[in-house]
Amino acid sequence: MTFRRKKPILDNFRLTAALLVIAIHTSPLSPWCEPADFWLTRITARIAVPFFLMVSGYFLAQGGWNKAKVMRFLKKTAFLYLLSILLYLPLNIYAGLPSAGEGLRRLLFEGTFYHLWYLPAAMLGCAIAYGLSRMGLRIALPAAAVLYLIGLGGDSYYGLVSAAIPLRAVYEAVFRLFGYTRNGLFFAPLFFLLGAGFSKYRLGERLSAAGFLAALAAMSTEGFFLRHIGAQRHDSMYIFLPICMIFLFSILLNRNKGENPTARKASMLVYLLHPWMIVLVRGGAKVIGMERIFIENQAIHFLAVSILSFGAAWIMTTIRLCPKPDLRARAWREIDEKALEHNARILKEQAGPGCGLMAVLKADAYGHGAVITARILQKQGIVKAWAVACLSEGITLRRAGIRGTILILGYTPPSEAQLLSHWALTQAVIGEDYAAALSEGAKGRKIRVHLALDTGMHRLGIPAGDIAAIKRIYHLPNLRIQGVYSHLCTADSLAPESVEFTVQQVQTFYDTVLRIQEMGLDTGKIHLQSSSGLLNLPPQPCDYARVGIALYGVYSDNAPVQRRLDIWPVLSLKARVADVHTLNAGECAGYGRSFCAKRETRLAVVGIGYADGIPRNFAELRGEILLHGQRVPVVGRVCMDQMLVDVTDISDVKRGDIATVLGRDGAVLLRTEDIAESCGTISNELLAGLGSRLPCLRKRKGKLS
Ligand SMILES: *Cc1c(COP(=O)(O)O)cnc(C)c1O
Repeated sequence: MTFRRKKPILDNFRLTAALLVIAIHTSPLSPWCEPADFWLTRITARIAVPFFLMVSGYFLAQGGWNKAKVMRFLKKTAFLYLLSILLYLPLNIYAGLPSAGEGLRRLLFEGTFYHLWYLPAAMLGCAIAYGLSRMGLRIALPAAAVLYLIGLGGDSYYGLVSAAIPLRAVYEAVFRLFGYTRNGLFFAPLFFLLGAGFSKYRLGERLSAAGFLAALAAMSTEGFFLRHIGAQRHDSMYIFLPICMIFLFSILLNRNKGENPTARKASMLVYLLHPWMIVLVRGGAKVIGMERIFIENQAIHFLAVSILSFGAAWIMTTIRLCPKPDLRARAWREIDEKALEHNARILKEQAGPGCGLMAVLKADAYGHGAVITARILQKQGIVKAWAVACLSEGITLRRAGIRGTILILGYTPPSEAQLLSHWALTQAVIGEDYAAALSEGAKGRKIRVHLALDTGMHRLGIPAGDIAAIKRIYHLPNLRIQGVYSHLCTADSLAPESVEFTVQQVQTFYDTVLRIQEMGLDTGKIHLQSSSGLLNLPPQPCDYARVGIALYGVYSDNAPVQRRLDIWPVLSLKARVADVHTLNAGECAGYGRSFCAKRETRLAVVGIGYADGIPRNFAELRGEILLHGQRVPVVGRVCMDQMLVDVTDISDVKRGDIATVLGRDGAVLLRTEDIAESCGTISNELLAGLGSRLPCLRKRKGKLS
């Protein structure tokens, strides 16, 4: 396999598409070779607009499209359209304003300036595509293709179609309203839906490259033929255009990785601004008397317009009118990407060959930020399955573009079954009656599930021995059973009675799995161990280990384990000093005046409190944090948003200094396990309690972003 670095090529290609649009409006090759210009601007460059529509469809449909996302897209596009209308109003006035009826028609369908047709087309097209998509792509795509074919009859093929007089009358009526058929009703829905289709399916690399060349050649032949026979009323639509686009999009998608928001913004700005730049170049050339160079030489004209448009877009994307707020203003979490990736690698090794990792991301990834954590792991590629506690956590991940199995470990009401299917989430089946209710609630849709077996924890799950019940669940119509798992409840302890219980649970689990398989039923993916299982049991013949706490580089507690792994803490918790002041001996501070100075004391106020997950009685628990690489004691009662520390013994602490509440500062490390122990709990509880208002920052190579 050749190694090719992937780039955000999908976003980057938008810039090429914007350049092609400028070419359409400036015809750079026409003075030298008219057919070449026709090929470039009237055939090849016609991929630009469908491309923009397809990426919109692709991103809207990623993780399932829904009304909220569509509404956001419509609002944003409408706002952009409004701005553009104002931007081009001076040119409209200069050219003479149309009548009210004509103005309204242009406003709704054609755009108020020649290039602006795209924005109302994108809005109408998106709404139609979304409406159609609700019937499923299998119906929506052919329906949109029919609309496209109707549009084609009024575009490149009009000369042929209008030979039939009744058809011509129909199209004439359409043109009275729409002007052209390349608008939102006929043209855009197909490309939105094709984009949406790519969020589910894609083609292989070789096929797409060969396919694109063949389709482009076919479209070129089609274009020249139609031009030759004089059939074209307009030249936006070809039969081979959607086919070209399928292959092109597939090529881009296969090499795509990440996003480039600047390219997105810049390409849109180039698109919107370039007609103004055409006016400026023409006007400027006339003023300085260089029409021959800047207007008549159309290649230079094209270059000048492109340079001005891209220059303006560059300036507008770099200038920030309103600076972004500093995420490190008060208190924040730092997520060490390298540590997370390292842990995934170590745990995968420990799980053994054939056993993958299912990253447990419940409780906002144990306070690490579920979306950030999942994105880092997805990019690394070792983890391909995820577990969360509830439906909303699953939807959050899907919305963030997380692919692969997402298993919901907790109870989801059967009334939400349709959402499970809509977001392609996998539900744990926690009992036979529940399975029946879920299958019923699915209303014919298929729900992916894993069977939770109760092997002795007696929390959620089907009693492991109840083979008859399991068999009945397999026969329910709407459940697709893709996995079987259980959870160990004493695997964290090496005490003999705990080990004995674990051995029993493990035995029961495999016995049940075997009996299911002996009935000829498919158990799908089987999984049993969580972090403590990996630390205390030998590698298991499973498909996944469901790792939570160990993935974050910490142990639940300081209890002994069979094997310590080389895992690194992922999270650091930081907070700023808000103020420093001196207390005289005998003065008291904080709520209830619970801290009284025995000597002259320097107190620092640190901007983190119990709303952020620090226990209110942290001082009584002998809590400490780090300042300037030294331990300082927390004193007084922890407030909701701040707390006091005694910094008498270290010099130079001042407002704005950064305190470390968890993690490393210089040579000293505050271990989560130790803090949890002093708080009388385990790392899991401490981390899961971190407040969601703490921004999550990624740390990579020492840099935060
Ligand atoms: C939380 C949870 C896990 C992860 O546990 P860790 O000890 O954090 O690895 C695994 N399986 C189930 C069923 C869980 O509820």
